[in-house]
Amino acid sequence: MAILVTGGAGYIGSHTCVELLQKGYEVIILDNFSNSNPEALKRVTAITGKDFKTYNADLLDKQTIIQVFSENEINAVIHFAGLKSVGESVAIPLQYYQNNMTGTVNLCEVMSWYGVKKLVFSSSATVYGATDKVPIDEETTLGAINPYGRTKQMIEEILGDLFRSDQAWSIAMLRYFNPIGAHPSGLIGEDPNGIPNNLLPYISQVAAGSRQRLSIFGDDYATKDGTGVRDYIHVVDLAIGHLHALEKVQSTQGIDAFNLGTGRGYSVLEMVRAFEKASMKSIPYTIERRRPGDAAVCFANPEKARNQLNWQANRGIDVMCEDTWRWQYYNPVGYKETFDKQIVGKTPLHQATGFLMP
Ligand code: NAD
Ligand code: UDP
Repeated sequence: MAILVTGGAGYIGSHTCVELLQKGYEVIILDNFSNSNPEALKRVTAITGKDFKTYNADLLDKQTIIQVFSENEINAVIHFAGLKSVGESVAIPLQYYQNNMTGTVNLCEVMSWYGVKKLVFSSSATVYGATDKVPIDEETTLGAINPYGRTKQMIEEILGDLFRSDQAWSIAMLRYFNPIGAHPSGLIGEDPNGIPNNLLPYISQVAAGSRQRLSIFGDDYATKDGTGVRDYIHVVDLAIGHLHALEKVQSTQGIDAFNLGTGRGYSVLEMVRAFEKASMKSIPYTIERRRPGDAAVCFANPEKARNQLNWQANRGIDVMCEDTWRWQYYNPVGYKETFDKQIVGKTPLHQATGFLMP
């Protein structure tokens, strides 16, 4: 069974490729490496002991997508490739619409020509916009509030139109909440460019000493401790969710959206404490003004995925923080250096924290 994974070198894609390979799927990766590093793929091979075909290709180039489909017997596609920064999408919206939407339309067009009509699409909880009603279920009215979120919402609509035009399609749209964590091997993880926007990469860089302190954006929300609450989900749980969605699209026809979250919210301060415990480092912080556009509370109702995909998240907050820290500790410059070079002279992590390098 051959699965094309677009964006397979990225954060969530690389973890999903590990799970696919470990389950015996044949994996073909298409990525233009605009936000990833080929080193990630070497490490996917190091973890799994398996090789796979990789195309350094852009979804905006339809000819190359055609080449990928003509050279491989593809059964289904998991489509991660896209630009994902909310702030950047406000600054360069046209590039976001071009890349995310045109890329998806090109992909679906070629899939349709080759009769490959099974698709798992990376959507996002950002499609729900600023809703006050939690937990958020899939029936919540959509209303993305930034260009990035609107690309996801519009792609969901395009995929709906596609299915209505041809009911041979089978499409799962996965709305992720807040993916964090890393593979327990410490070999792959999130490798943001420049200053991280998201909470966990920022906290882990503070713990590592490469940033001075965390700015907490607001402590006056109507939450347990005044800081924002989110549904953090371990990237390995998320990756496994894709395998369940893949089974669903392979065995049925239709289109549906599923929340992938834990159903549990943690505040910024709870995350700081959990990370301090995992890393045995203190995380200095200052309280700053609220970040514009931030919701106070956001967490999923994950029941639909549990009932219809037979999937639920299993990894708790401590494991999420330990795995993030292991990745950060052994890869202070991410994929810019090989793993072997980065671990030279490092005190083994278990001596400092009591948890082992698997
Ligand atoms: P990522 O940036 O690490 O991975 C995306 C990959 O797609 C990168 O390897 C990038 O090089 C590639 N890519 C981008 N445009 C491309 C193009 N035109 N052609 C070929 N390759 C291209 O992001 P991620 O965190 O792994 O996210 C994967 C998907 O999940 C994205 O669609 C993102 O919007 C969505 N998502 C992510 C989060 C999150 O917090 N990480 C949350 C919700 C949804
Ligand atoms: N946050 C913070 N400082 C940071 C980054 C994030 O206080 O440097 C807060 C943010 O206000 C939100 C939570 O952490 O309450 C999660 O933010 P993130 O950007 O990771 O996810 P999102 O808000 O997109 O769900």
